[in-house]
Amino acid sequence: MFLKKISILAAAVACVVTASSAFAAYPDKPISVIVPFAAGGPTDVVARSLSQAMGTQLKGAMVVENVGGAGGTIGAGKVARAAGDGYTLLFHHIGMSTAPSLYRKLDFKPLEDFIPIGAVVDVPMTLIAKPQTTQTNLKDLLAYVRANKDKINLANAGVGAASHLCGLLLQSAMKTELTTVPFSGTGPAMTALLGGNVDIMCDQTTNTTGQIKGGKIKAFGVTSKSKLANFPELPPLATELPGFEVGVWHILYAPKNTPADVVSKLQTALQAAIKDPGFAAKMKDLGAEIMPADRQNSAGAKALLAAEITKWSPIIQAAKAYAD
Ligand code: ASP
Repeated sequence: MFLKKISILAAAVACVVTASSAFAAYPDKPISVIVPFAAGGPTDVVARSLSQAMGTQLKGAMVVENVGGAGGTIGAGKVARAAGDGYTLLFHHIGMSTAPSLYRKLDFKPLEDFIPIGAVVDVPMTLIAKPQTTQTNLKDLLAYVRANKDKINLANAGVGAASHLCGLLLQSAMKTELTTVPFSGTGPAMTALLGGNVDIMCDQTTNTTGQIKGGKIKAFGVTSKSKLANFPELPPLATELPGFEVGVWHILYAPKNTPADVVSKLQTALQAAIKDPGFAAKMKDLGAEIMPADRQNSAGAKALLAAEITKWSPIIQAAKAYAD
């Protein structure tokens, strides 16, 4: 009896030791970071830089996998159903907070099915147009769009994408309905815009900076409240459309049930990666603002997500912009 008790105790101790040494060894294989949009777009660009910097911290590989479609909800749903073992993560943006109001049938619950690791960057958007556009300022572009609403195609990355949200605000502020063309991400949407196959789009500066600076597309305004240091020539959209403001915050998530030790290791790596000079310089070049330190952890990121769900829900309900 005594021996039996000892062996049960020994087995329990072995289990604890094995579990904690498993965490100590974490990561001992590549970590997959799901980006819920196509490769080459703005979320992808930030995720790849962050994964590289975090991989250095964790002494392991973080590999980005693009699972685009349905405004980011397909990729997010995949991570919600993944094992909470620290080897599948999600890098998503503001769309995580709008999806519950936009989608009547959503197969995940943002606040329950994920553990936020930390918020990373906040990225303004730009209103851009195909290279053939002849208007040269925001006022004229908006007048042209209003007058030609039946001809104008507004590209986005699907219902729930930041480009969709910005487009919704744009149409409601202009009191104009446009035809929207969804892509699996604004990487491919940018290709269509460059080719003149769609007319206008809102997209994060993390995708548009190079194209604007290189003179490949036309840019008309920014979605931040004030002008951006990187684009002093572009007016805030609010100068023509009062109150217009969108900032695209990004959070790294693990599925629920991820062990606390793993979450804490990832959080430490995320905070160090954000301070990495290479990562910080790249984000600055692309117009992305690093999130304040009190958002770079689980509690701060979760509070941001919860507040944004509360903020967007009545706006989306009023716009009746549902998807099935
Ligand atoms: N910028 C996209 C959006 O509109 C997503 C992407 O391709 O990163 O949400």
